[in-house]
Amino acid sequence: MKKVAIIACGSYMDQGYGCPGEWRCLKAATMGEGFFDEESQVVAFLRCDCPGRPILSNLGMTLKALELKPDAIHLSSCMVNAKPGCPYIDMEQLAKDIEEKFGIKVIMGTHTYA
Ligand code: SF4
Repeated sequence: MKKVAIIACGSYMDQGYGCPGEWRCLKAATMGEGFFDEESQVVAFLRCDCPGRPILSNLGMTLKALELKPDAIHLSSCMVNAKPGCPYIDMEQLAKDIEEKFGIKVIMGTHTYA
């Protein structure tokens, strides 16, 4: 079973009509659905908060505290597919930065539930 970390949009969690928190991401990981290619253990769940500046350092602290390297880091569907999109973060660039800094594959999405 893969070990994964998820980063999700805190703004959407707080204000979104469809997401009261992270349950869709967690369900998709548990079931191996959506952007998870197999049943996956979520070993970390990071919440981004606007404007998202500490996301890389927070991720670094989390990985250090975890003392294990996740197989992948998923950017939540609400982060990468938001309409309108995040006004602060270029998600493709964030994914690239995470992969370069931590050497962990980034997957652009979590669930595909309505
Ligand atoms: S910076 Fe973007 S991704 Fe992060 S909480 Fe704000 S809107 Fe969401």
